[in-house]
Amino acid sequence: MARSFDVAIIGAGPGGYVAAIRCGQLGLNTVCIDDWKNEKGKPSLGGTCLNVGCIPSKALLESSENYQRARHKFFEHGVNVHGVDIDVGVMQARKNKIVESFTGGIDLLFKKNKVISMHGKGRFVSANETYRIEISDDGKSENVEARHVIVATGSLPRQLPGAPLDRKLVVDSVGALAFTEVPRRLGVIGAGVIGLELGSVWRRLGSEVTLLEALPDFLPVADEQVAKEAQKIFTKQGLDIRTGATVTLAKAGKKRVTVEYEDNKGAQQALECDKLIVAIGRFPNTAALGAETVGLRLDSRGYIEVDARCRSNLPNVFAIGDVVRGPMLAHKASEEGVMAAEIIAGQAGQVNLEAIPWVIYTSPEIAWVGETEQQLKNAGVAYHAGQFPFLANGRARSLGETSGFVKILADAKTDRIVGVHIIGPYASEMIAEAVVALEFSASSEDIARIVHAHPSLSEVFHEAALGVTKRALHI
Ligand code: FAD
Ligand code: NAD
Repeated sequence: MARSFDVAIIGAGPGGYVAAIRCGQLGLNTVCIDDWKNEKGKPSLGGTCLNVGCIPSKALLESSENYQRARHKFFEHGVNVHGVDIDVGVMQARKNKIVESFTGGIDLLFKKNKVISMHGKGRFVSANETYRIEISDDGKSENVEARHVIVATGSLPRQLPGAPLDRKLVVDSVGALAFTEVPRRLGVIGAGVIGLELGSVWRRLGSEVTLLEALPDFLPVADEQVAKEAQKIFTKQGLDIRTGATVTLAKAGKKRVTVEYEDNKGAQQALECDKLIVAIGRFPNTAALGAETVGLRLDSRGYIEVDARCRSNLPNVFAIGDVVRGPMLAHKASEEGVMAAEIIAGQAGQVNLEAIPWVIYTSPEIAWVGETEQQLKNAGVAYHAGQFPFLANGRARSLGETSGFVKILADAKTDRIVGVHIIGPYASEMIAEAVVALEFSASSEDIARIVHAHPSLSEVFHEAALGVTKRALHI
């Protein structure tokens, strides 16, 4: 007899495990099925985000930034440090410890919320009044039944046919998080979020980093002005960003990789590097799900088709996170998980996809929410922009982090804030105020009339709001 549950969740990334906790809180009898194994071959909850994504990358970004500060910034404070070097082994061990503490923490959260955790690959085998799911691991299999299913199987790195991974010299983001030494020359295919974050980690530690980006423009997903500023700053830091580069082949030898590509003028070029990271996007992980067995509808790119409430075409089957439309971001996955759980429990869950914050954890950080200037122009929306630089802010000066700005875009007729774009220190923290503003339909005048602490970086946000009506005070 198959064990029976109110809810079966397939995948324990930030979408699935958060959905499971919320289901548990709501008193639903819940099983969460996940197949992730860490490098020691042990089950490890948390999916991409905790094992090989958000958390380990941020740990390495922090370590490498500290190294960079110690070498190039401490002296400005009169702090003289000599003989600074990096022990990559210690840095990686610290990262692994952080990952282990978080992935282990999910086990405890599951116990606390009475969520049953099962290890193995989940696959739909039949759909009647309930759904039957087979869970297989190491040749053994077991079935469970559930009235509701939440699919949260996440995404996988896209491969480039001309640049196959050998997982030694040519790696994806998983390999790039685990280098045991600093490569002298590092090539990165794709100047997107992963390319910029992991490229920055290894550049700070001493690699010569070259990014080959297929598109003619740098970071087109961000506001154009922010992207331009970022490209200027990153280039000055030493990242060699080559846009309009079409990679045709990457050949891994014994010790180095040769990448052949066509540059933006159509000329053939070659790049030699000691390691190559392929970071050209991710695709939804739906291949082994048995979707066709039960008639779960996927779109042409393999995403599970869902409505605004993450309901699939099948009754009582939800899909959330990277496996459905919308940005591939951990917080978006988690909020969709909460929404699905609440709807299953008869509540009115919702997620506003228009107000999902984006953060790129480079230095300076980049963060935004809402519309970009180019989107507003294309849509013919009249707007006013207010902008303020970190250079004119006392806290930013004290930190020694003065590059970048905050830009607020407000509808010209209503003054409602429709987009906020930040490049600067702690943009990841500052963006929260912008998200609240968007969610509460704040006007730039609302923000202008709110008292912001002095000296703080948030004053830059305040001044940008004042700037919408041309009354910024400190410029
Ligand atoms: P995942 O986290 O991918 O989890 C899916 C889980 O389901 C996995 O454990 C998988 O093994 C399991 N699974 C798949 N199929 C099955 C099956 N059939 N049966 C059982 N289990 C299955 N996002 C941010 O918001 N901020 C960041 O800073 C950030 N940094 C990132 C850095 C890197 C290097 C990468 C690669 C990604 C980063 N992301 C970041 C993106 C973020 O990791 C994803 O958006 C997020 O993990 C998606 O969550 P998810 O639950 O949908 O899927
Ligand atoms: P991405 O979409 O951010 O960037 C991929 C880049 O590769 C794009 O600029 C694309 O134009 C380029 N590209 C595609 N094909 C190419 C080719 N053949 N040659 C050269 N360039 C090519 O994807 P990513 O960096 O792989 O990251 C995947 C996703 O993971 C992100 O979109 C994001 O959703 C998530 N992520 C988020 C964070 C964060 O929130 N801080 C960090 C890392 C990853």
